[in-house]
Amino acid sequence: MNSYRRLLELVKPYWYRLAIAMVCMVGVALCTAALPYLVQPVLDDIFIQKKAEMLKFLSVAVFLVFSVKALTEWGQTYLMSYVGQRVVAQLRQQLYDHLQGLPLSFFDRMPTGLLMSRVTNDVNLIQGAVSNAITGLLKDPLTLIGLLAVMFTRDWQLSLIAMVVLPFAFFPVVKFGRMLRRISTKSQESMGDISVILHETISGSRIVKAFGMEEYEKERFNRENIRYFRYLIKSVMVRALSSPLMEFLGGIAIVFVILYGGYRVIQGVSTPGEFFSFLGALLLLYEPIKRLSRINNVVQEGIAAATRIYDILDTPPAIQDKPDAIQLPPMKRELELSNVQFRYDNEPVLKDINLKVSAGEVVAIVGVSGAGKSTLVDLIPRFYEVSGGAIFIDGIDIRDATMGSLRGQIGIVTQQTILFNDTVRNNIAYGDINKSDEEIIAAAKAANAYGFIMKLDQGFNTIIGEQGARLSGGERQRLCIARALLKNAPILILDEATSSLDSEAEMEVQRALENLMAGRTTLVIAHRLSTIKNADRIVVISNGRIVEQGHHDELMECNGDYCRLYDMQFAQLDNNSTAKTVSDLSDQVRK
Ligand code: ADP
Repeated sequence: MNSYRRLLELVKPYWYRLAIAMVCMVGVALCTAALPYLVQPVLDDIFIQKKAEMLKFLSVAVFLVFSVKALTEWGQTYLMSYVGQRVVAQLRQQLYDHLQGLPLSFFDRMPTGLLMSRVTNDVNLIQGAVSNAITGLLKDPLTLIGLLAVMFTRDWQLSLIAMVVLPFAFFPVVKFGRMLRRISTKSQESMGDISVILHETISGSRIVKAFGMEEYEKERFNRENIRYFRYLIKSVMVRALSSPLMEFLGGIAIVFVILYGGYRVIQGVSTPGEFFSFLGALLLLYEPIKRLSRINNVVQEGIAAATRIYDILDTPPAIQDKPDAIQLPPMKRELELSNVQFRYDNEPVLKDINLKVSAGEVVAIVGVSGAGKSTLVDLIPRFYEVSGGAIFIDGIDIRDATMGSLRGQIGIVTQQTILFNDTVRNNIAYGDINKSDEEIIAAAKAANAYGFIMKLDQGFNTIIGEQGARLSGGERQRLCIARALLKNAPILILDEATSSLDSEAEMEVQRALENLMAGRTTLVIAHRLSTIKNADRIVVISNGRIVEQGHHDELMECNGDYCRLYDMQFAQLDNNSTAKTVSDLSDQVRK
């Protein structure tokens, strides 16, 4: 119910539209009740007593009632949908804005497809809840009251009998509502799972094909699809049962009403007009009651969806700026990690990291996979917050600086090239869309990307496809390098691609990287021998600790962790002509 109250809060700003809608609802309810009310004079005065003057009067009255009913019905439907859709648009935006502010650890936990299902499916379920519920909570009860009033005016004894039977028709409403809420939660979860599989296998279609897993994935999707179908069918079953069951129970009531009411007309206690007016009102009761039962279902679904959405909205946002956070001035002297500890869950991943990097220094970070290299560099832009110790830039604890001023100083090129389905130009200028064409072209040239960009159909205006699908691996990397160059940040974090490009592509990327690193403080997670040999310092990480530091030759002499790592990962590269060429070439570039 808490989620429901929060939903109603969202509706508040639209109170004036709601107020007009409510007036319309009163109109609809009154007109609906007026119709069976008019049945009595029409039957008794016109058809039985044949009063000519009533003919004109009553037809005008009936005409008016229908006109007002049409008008108010239209106004109410339009206004309520408007409010419902507005609230949903607002909620969707709120959810998206909140997602942008959530920490990376949240996205580590939540599958992408599931989040997408929240923003699309769940939000839509809420639309039904908001507009139908408010309509249902006002219009239908009002109509109900109006109709009951007509019934009691016409024949209070019959009405009392009907009132005894009516609650039986209500019983399934409550019962079914609860069942539907349970099923709906399950079916939405199942829909979320479907989205997860869809997202994974569509974005990973290359791997699915490479491993020949099409059949396996079809099977996995089929299982989830069937599960979803079962839940849907269950809810259809409940829904489909609720109307006929109520109709049946209502029908029994009507049989008794006809028996007893007919008897009274035959006895002359009441007139046919009164009886049909009563019966009309009773039959009209069915619609609002049926709608009320549906509304209950819709509301239950909406509440279930809202609860899932509020779960996300209640996840606290990522690390936020301190109230007195300062603008971090551009780094001039050094970056220092002092006694840094870090854990994701409970397992410590980084322990006692002490590292000083002077401005302009290139530090290569090496270590076996899982040693903690990526975690270490993720702490610098505060993607994750240190669990102990501190990171300083020119002596300022980065937690005392604003996130904007900190991240503004850091350029990042990762091995996963993150590109957007947009133009080449906008991908390079991502982060500052207002950069001039000259700057963008200069960055592209320095990143060794200008040549291939100009060969594309529409040059800088070419749309590159999702994740840059229309480009080669080396080209994608160079676009990311151009992006980092354009950002012109003093600190650079590089995560070298492990999968090797062909020698020519690698050379192009390497040259671009040399340009990018020039004059910047660089932390590079190194996989290439050339990078390691050219680094000012190598930092060896093992099990979350820095175990060795120094230059390649020094470290080779110690015969420690670095030697073993070298034998394992890099020795074969040493004999590899590609690596040699690249390293020679980058030596030349340096000179
Ligand atoms: P490397 O970059 O050296 O390969 P990582 O920094 O990626 O190593 O990982 C270090 C350790 O932290 C590994 O044991 C890994 O399982 C764990 N780890 C990495 N990312 C996460 C995460 N998002 N949540 C929990 N544990 C993680």
